[in-house]
Amino acid sequence: MAEERLRIAIQKSGRLSDGSFELLKSCGLKVSRGRDKLYGRVQEMPIDVLLLRDDDIPAFVADNACDIGIVGQNVFEEELLSETHEAPAEEVMQLGFARCRLMLAAPKEWNFDGANDLASKRIATSYPALTKAWLEREGVEAKVVMMKGSVEVAPRLKIADAVCDIVSTGATLDANGLKPVATVFDSEAILIRNAEKFSAEKQAIFDALIKRINGVLRSKD
Ligand code: ATP
Ligand code: ZN
Repeated sequence: MAEERLRIAIQKSGRLSDGSFELLKSCGLKVSRGRDKLYGRVQEMPIDVLLLRDDDIPAFVADNACDIGIVGQNVFEEELLSETHEAPAEEVMQLGFARCRLMLAAPKEWNFDGANDLASKRIATSYPALTKAWLEREGVEAKVVMMKGSVEVAPRLKIADAVCDIVSTGATLDANGLKPVATVFDSEAILIRNAEKFSAEKQAIFDALIKRINGVLRSKD
């Protein structure tokens, strides 16, 4: 019988990928990339690496195409709230990198005085479920407009009055005449896993990996 291998999905390139490769490296795992650049292989443990777009990672893990994955909590929670999967992936642990915030931002000239100011306004975002959940918590009724990218230009184009977007330094908002006015969601990279029980063999690989990750995270405290 072929040896069982644990399949981990990580972002191919982008804001999560350096941190993900670095974490694996700190765990003593060197990822050699295949020629097709979709698969990577680890020598030191029976682990295969799949290189994907971050948005595809929660579904790949939920559908068992991968056993585990590294993804932004923002993307994972958005997927959970939109209930696209009957048995969604589960969060295992926070990984302490790719920290960012989903923030409500308004034009600088708007004398913003709290969530109630958003009543009946239009908010552009790539995270409609997280934004709607926040509006509901705040008890405000506003219209949420879905945009896949360049959300920060929406107010200038009069597509929306405000935006709800991922912010790390705030420079992009500032360059677009916007200011952050409220935090909707705090995010960092997380490890997720398929919700089904692993085989004993896979569980052993998983446990060994988690032990190494915990060791790496502890050494950073
Ligand atoms: P892909 O091509 O894989 O779909 P992407 O453009 O959707 O990539 P990135 O911009 O690489 O995604 O961001 C991936 C994740 O990194 C975000 O979902 C978020 O969790 C995290 N992140 C950290 N800092 C930032 C930031 N300043 N802007 C956007 N995302 C950030
Ligand atoms: Zn993406």
